[in-house]
Amino acid sequence: MKSHVKGRHESKIVDLPTLAAESNEPEGLIFNIIESRASSPISAGPRGATWFEKERGRLIEVPVDFNMEPVDIAAALTIPHLEKIQALQERLERVEEERAQYHCPHCDAEISGITGQDFPEHHAYVTYETFACGRVTADGWEEGPCPYGPNWPRLDEFEFVVKEQGGLFVCYPMPKTDRARRVRAATREVGRTKEEAEENARIAVAPKVKGQPERRRSWP
Ligand SMILES: [Zn+2]
Repeated sequence: MKSHVKGRHESKIVDLPTLAAESNEPEGLIFNIIESRASSPISAGPRGATWFEKERGRLIEVPVDFNMEPVDIAAALTIPHLEKIQALQERLERVEEERAQYHCPHCDAEISGITGQDFPEHHAYVTYETFACGRVTADGWEEGPCPYGPNWPRLDEFEFVVKEQGGLFVCYPMPKTDRARRVRAATREVGRTKEEAEENARIAVAPKVKGQPERRRSWP
């Protein structure tokens, strides 16, 4: 539109198909933009393009001081557009819900395994889901916590027992509470000194915080 009034002293009338062809935009979109401007309250500042007199939908008057303003996309949207956006939003929500079923709710780690176990004496079949972070659920109930989740034990819920083994030190984090006992990845950590083994074990069972880098082992 700007090119049509460049170097001119008066406004110019252009037809809709020409503008559509020049801008490579569908006529419908340009129609809606002009239309939304026509219905919006007149504001000071640079003027936008409007329909030429009685030629609504056919001819557009581009004012000589025409300036590109941010287009009010929302106002230019038609009912089919809005319906399509809503349908996409609903679909996205469904996909998001479906995706959430296969990811840890605390850290978004993927499910790494699904197994089932029969308990004939209880007439029950339990489905266990294991997540990459170590979280385990039984029929959806959290049996093993996620290190990023609220059920992960604090460090003082473990006792760090160190034993010397073949010239190295091995530290076993021994759970002191029920919460700590539910940590699945039973771990033992080695070090060249007693302190190093214990430090590695603390790093291994420490609660994790999203977005915070994990502490690194100094060895191995
Ligand atoms: Zn997790």
